[in-house]
Amino acid sequence: MQPLPHILEPGDSLATWLADQGQPAWRARSIHRWLFGRRASSFADMTDLPADLRGRLEADYRIWTTSIARHHRAEDGTEKLLLELHDGQRIECVLLRDQDRRTVCISSQVGCAMGCVFCASGIDGVVRNLSTGEILEQLLRLARLLPPDERISHIVVMGMGEPLANLDRLLPALAEAQHPDGLGISQRRITVSTVGLPAGIDRLAAENPGYHLAVSLHAADDALRTRLVPVNRAIGLADVMASADRYWESSGRRLTFEYVLLGGVNDSPEQARSLVRLLGGRAALLNVIPYNAVAGLPWREPTPAAREAFLDAVRTGGVNVQVRRRKGARIDAACGQLRRLDAQARTV
Ligand code: SF4
Repeated sequence: MQPLPHILEPGDSLATWLADQGQPAWRARSIHRWLFGRRASSFADMTDLPADLRGRLEADYRIWTTSIARHHRAEDGTEKLLLELHDGQRIECVLLRDQDRRTVCISSQVGCAMGCVFCASGIDGVVRNLSTGEILEQLLRLARLLPPDERISHIVVMGMGEPLANLDRLLPALAEAQHPDGLGISQRRITVSTVGLPAGIDRLAAENPGYHLAVSLHAADDALRTRLVPVNRAIGLADVMASADRYWESSGRRLTFEYVLLGGVNDSPEQARSLVRLLGGRAALLNVIPYNAVAGLPWREPTPAAREAFLDAVRTGGVNVQVRRRKGARIDAACGQLRRLDAQARTV
């Protein structure tokens, strides 16, 4: 038997269904308002819908296609969910608390095809794209971790997967997240993170240039970048930077470049100076992320001295740099770690 459709899948199926029930089309927005704004857990909670309509929704649609396989909380307020999908696959999503910010980090795919050698998400490749409903369900789940007087303020699509490889499903989800009847999160508070797929960046620039774009570099020369981010072999840094520049021209928004600092690999002052040359005076922010050791992978954290020397060199070169704090490090909040540990635990 086919599973019931997800209520948040886009398209005209809900509109058609409502019309078939003799209901006005605006009921669809009422349902979304209940789910995002009022955090209803079931159709029965949607008390301003006619009772018989609630019953028919219950029979024909699902709100929840995931279950919470694990829920970890760190002392700094970070919470991480491992969600089991309808087909048994597992993905991660995270809520980060930072002063008055409530940022959620969501996944776009099961696994990842980009193969970044230091990342637990990509070790086993990509399994499949997430549907729009599955992307939105992460937001529903994370919003429900907050007390009623708090709201999600920022979204980063930086969890498992390469977002630009699943734009067809991601863009409708991000559009829904902005809807004033839903989460009402402005486009400027949504970050899409990519390893730098030029075709995807160009499509985003053409369709939705208002998002904040974060491009993961991790190296300033092609040889090292191809070693760390294998997909770079087919692209090359010159094309990554050119497409980032085109996005900047379309959006007028400052770009962010991400750089995971790996001990003894890409953390020397010479490499910092190469990075300064690559960034070449762009209006950009460099986000340096000291590596979080992943069990079973050979990479190590940079020493504090190496980290400071690297940061000094990029600052001296005039680059606007920030170091991303490792919130939630003790709950394996780095991308893909919880899923991988869980999978390992289930095989022993
Ligand atoms: S770091 Fe991101 S792009 Fe690279 S393998 Fe992991 S999930 Fe994919």
